[in-house]
Amino acid sequence: METKIVTRHAGAMEWIAKHHLEFGDAEVIAHADVGDLKGRRIIGMLPIHMAAMCKEYWHLEMTVPADRRGTEISCEDMENFGCKISQFLVVAPGDFCQVCYEIGSWTHDGLRCAECGAPRKGQK
Ligand SMILES: [Zn+2]
Repeated sequence: METKIVTRHAGAMEWIAKHHLEFGDAEVIAHADVGDLKGRRIIGMLPIHMAAMCKEYWHLEMTVPADRRGTEISCEDMENFGCKISQFLVVAPGDFCQVCYEIGSWTHDGLRCAECGAPRKGQK
């Protein structure tokens, strides 16, 4: 699976390069659209509706003090803020079958679960 890192921050690129050599070959993009997310492993700090579009979403997780929010964060700051990369499973109720919990497995018309045939939530 192709991995992309979504960030426009030099500090984040430096932190990932320093702490996660396994992502060293990943393409870094400053902004993501739907086409960048679908079917890919994405590392970043995406809004939740965009995280839900990824095949796999790995969040740059850290607690930024209130007085530093909205300011440029350096690699050293990220270390001080306890940054780590954690995988999150982000799904909207319509993204998984409410009966068998299969994610994103729908019949061709998108109306039923391809695994168990249950109607998709939010569909008639
Ligand atoms: Zn099902």
